[in-house]
Amino acid sequence: MQSCIKTAIGKVEMLDIPMPAPGPGEMVVKTTLSTVCGTDMHFLDEGPTELLVALYPPLAGFLAGLPGLPMGHEGVGTVHALGEGVTRFQPGERVIACCNVGCGKCLQCHTGDYSICTGGGRVIFGTQGEYFVVPFADINATKVPDEVSDEQAILATDIMSTGFAAIERAEMKIGDSVAIFAQGPVGLCATAGARARGAGLVITVESVPERIEASKRFGANVVINPKEKDPALEIMSLTNGKGADVTVEAVGLQETFEQATRAVRPGGTVSSVGVYGVLPQVWMATMAPSFRHRKIVTTLCPGGYDRLNHLLDIIRYGKVDLSALFTHRMKLSQTPEAYDLFRDKREGVLKIALTP
Ligand SMILES: [Zn+2]
Ligand SMILES: [Zn+2]
Repeated sequence: MQSCIKTAIGKVEMLDIPMPAPGPGEMVVKTTLSTVCGTDMHFLDEGPTELLVALYPPLAGFLAGLPGLPMGHEGVGTVHALGEGVTRFQPGERVIACCNVGCGKCLQCHTGDYSICTGGGRVIFGTQGEYFVVPFADINATKVPDEVSDEQAILATDIMSTGFAAIERAEMKIGDSVAIFAQGPVGLCATAGARARGAGLVITVESVPERIEASKRFGANVVINPKEKDPALEIMSLTNGKGADVTVEAVGLQETFEQATRAVRPGGTVSSVGVYGVLPQVWMATMAPSFRHRKIVTTLCPGGYDRLNHLLDIIRYGKVDLSALFTHRMKLSQTPEAYDLFRDKREGVLKIALTP
């Protein structure tokens, strides 16, 4: 089968690899939709695959005999084969799985934090291939209702869950002012999540014209262009000198994190959801009064099948439709070209739908 493989740092190619066989608890899914994510760029460009294996030791067995790292962690498909012990699925069912899979047994999984599993959980790899493997399928996958499209469902596997969780973990109250730094795919999901949860004033920070437009469509009242104004000062002004109740950092840069700490009101919450890659540290003015009484929360995409079901329900019943994030459609065989397009942020790209 064809799969997009990282064969060197910064290099992906479509290669023929053996069909995966499902191990105990695993399920093999025939891909109907895949996509490229900002996190793929970190996995591709920042260091060798060995670093990932050190982070996720269970990957060592998965990668044995492969010519490199199968890329992609966001996917939709139909159940192709079930491993021993999988009971919640039947062949042919349309399914998704959270990009962070948990074992379902460790302390973290037991408290619902599947994405920080310490019992063998890891990131899914290989959704940019004709088939992909879901570990611990009964814990991490769910069926997709007929009325939810592939393009809606795939967002629940990562960026919708992540962006919404940035708002949920900040415990945003109805009517709160929220400022979101960067309106890439995850930032836009945070904007939609703030709106869905009942935010008052939603301010976003973005300079790319297509993303400014998308931000307004997804619920921003005001978009600040950081090339024209100092975002933190502008947020202070828009909130009558108070600061935003919640600020969200959604790009993973030191500068925007620091701005988020400056723009939050004393007693408010800074919610960090960007992927910082190799960023060594963040700087905060600990002498500022606002530092002494506020919350900083960080979030990895929450998983588990109940989380997926909640997201599918807000799509089905809450009429939240984020599928406008798909700006481009390409064939799975063109995945390497999709990486180039995504990396260069050409043509207003947000999400690229990759179909077999
Ligand atoms: Zn992702
Ligand atoms: Zn676990």
